[in-house]
Amino acid sequence: MNLSLVRNFSIIAHIDHGKSTLADRMLELTQSVAARQMMDQYLDSMDIERERGITIKAQTARMAYRAGDGRDYILNLIDTPGHVDFTYEVSRSLAACEGVLLVVDAAQGIQAQTLANAYLALGADLTILPVLNKIDLPTADPDRVSHQVMDLLGADKDEILLASAKEGTGVPEVMEAIIRRIQPPRGDPSAPLKALIVDCWFDSYRGAVILMRMIDGELRVGMNIEMMATGLCYEVHEVGVLTPAPRRAEALGAGEVGYLMAGIKQIGDIKVGDTVTEVRRPAASPFRGYKEPKPMVFCGLYPVEGTGYESIKAALEKLHLNDTAFTYEAETSVALGFGFRCGFLGLLHMDVIRERLEREYDLTLLTTSPTVAFRVTSTDGRVTSVDNPTKLPPAGRIERIEEPYVHGSIVVPSEYLGGVIKLCQEKRGSQKRLEYLDAQLAVLEYELPLAEILFDFYDRLKSLSRGYASFDYEPMDFRPSDLVKLDVLLNGEAVDALSLIIHKEKAYSHGRALVGKMRDIIPRQLFEVVIQAAVGSRVIARESVKPLRKQVTAKLYGGDVTRKRKLLEKQKAGKKRMKRVGRVEVPQEAFMAVLSVGQGGPD
Ligand code: GDP
Ligand code: MG
Repeated sequence: MNLSLVRNFSIIAHIDHGKSTLADRMLELTQSVAARQMMDQYLDSMDIERERGITIKAQTARMAYRAGDGRDYILNLIDTPGHVDFTYEVSRSLAACEGVLLVVDAAQGIQAQTLANAYLALGADLTILPVLNKIDLPTADPDRVSHQVMDLLGADKDEILLASAKEGTGVPEVMEAIIRRIQPPRGDPSAPLKALIVDCWFDSYRGAVILMRMIDGELRVGMNIEMMATGLCYEVHEVGVLTPAPRRAEALGAGEVGYLMAGIKQIGDIKVGDTVTEVRRPAASPFRGYKEPKPMVFCGLYPVEGTGYESIKAALEKLHLNDTAFTYEAETSVALGFGFRCGFLGLLHMDVIRERLEREYDLTLLTTSPTVAFRVTSTDGRVTSVDNPTKLPPAGRIERIEEPYVHGSIVVPSEYLGGVIKLCQEKRGSQKRLEYLDAQLAVLEYELPLAEILFDFYDRLKSLSRGYASFDYEPMDFRPSDLVKLDVLLNGEAVDALSLIIHKEKAYSHGRALVGKMRDIIPRQLFEVVIQAAVGSRVIARESVKPLRKQVTAKLYGGDVTRKRKLLEKQKAGKKRMKRVGRVEVPQEAFMAVLSVGQGGPD
């Protein structure tokens, strides 16, 4: 293969700026997908992705393209996951490329994910081709957005490409720019095999499929390979390229992008970011370091009515074959019984997994409120990771608690800047940067505790900016904080699944708000329900739900039978996602109430 005729690139963009649509147009233009097979957004294959418009699993397509210079090129489009939860995967996809298309909606301008992705691409030393998309929209303002892009990248105006992926205008120019401006891959075909694992997924018929970027050497069927981080060895059964349909090949050479199958049964054995080499003639060192992505957000999953513990277990096992980035282990809650503690890369990842469990496996789940993993040093010097508030040692045995911090980028129209700064302060953030992209748009960078983002951060950011602010974050480090455990008691008994770890200064106001909220959520029962919030043995708030005095139907005087039945049915339906905790019926929302309690904020 003549490497000067190969281009490896990704498309990066803020959500909804047109990444998938542009990819579709390129596939069409190169006739990689027959028109009949062409669905909108071919590369987003999963249902949930389609609905939410995000690409969760990186996929790739190899396209044959005859350029304006009359030569035949191979373009490898490596699709990146679109969301920050998957930063590590994005960085792996980018490591497989020499350049990226940075797609920016010409009506919306630069957004938080645009920034975060651009920084990743700059950090990886890639050529960035800015593409202003949606120029067909009447609200498009290519001049203004061009200036933002020039500012961000230090680019010249004539480097900026204008396109409408929807209508196809400008797409041929984008193709030509890829050929002219992105470097061909370099690699030594005669060196020992070295290939980067970019992605890996499970095919129910054929086992694990590994997507790789070949760095050096050659990969052939029958070769014995070793994964450098894990030390596991396999014999190669099949190699090929994705067009995006898989097409077998004899071998893959340096600089190419392709897949490999080796009868691997356990997808968990394969680590995205690891390096593949040959057993007989190994590479001296792996391709950049491998890093294990760590779950950052945890919650409990419990069965409710009709769903059994065993069916959740089976579903988790199956789903894990496809997504090894989430973790699960059995846990028991006094209040909720047998369930699982699950770890996710971020909030979106959690939503996606939870939705898939409910939708694809037809489960009804109760989810406890998400938490981060705190690093706790006890007085005897032991360090543990606490991902469940109930596992926090008693206060007297704690030397120090540290919590994970993130680096957040917020892009916001200037008129809402004040509100956003106030929100970030309330969330214990410290400002690192404030800059204007232009007269109307500001960029803020903050260091924030991740735990504060799990509370109502997104919702409040959206509502105070009327939906115009965008936010993205990257994990940073752990920092000591003054944290306490806040318990909720129902009729004097602490409900373990409702406990949370919170900053000391917020415990009081949060406890009060939470208890008030619970009072509204918990329905009246035959006896009084006393709801308390406590830190240690100190009760900091109290509310109660008065008992039902008579049967609800009594006031209908037995006259109207249909009304009476309707009322009873309504009661029954309302009961569906209830969990009995001691004698008290607690609805699902109560377990999530912690998240929506405005923390003393004025909204
Ligand atoms: P992604 O989230 O970056 O993959 O964005 P999509 O490709 O899914 O596009 C988001 C929305 O913008 C979809 O409704 C597209 O139809 C629409 N869209 C994409 N490109 C264009 C364009 O050039 N013009 C217009 N008017 N709409 C577009
Ligand atoms: Mg998309």
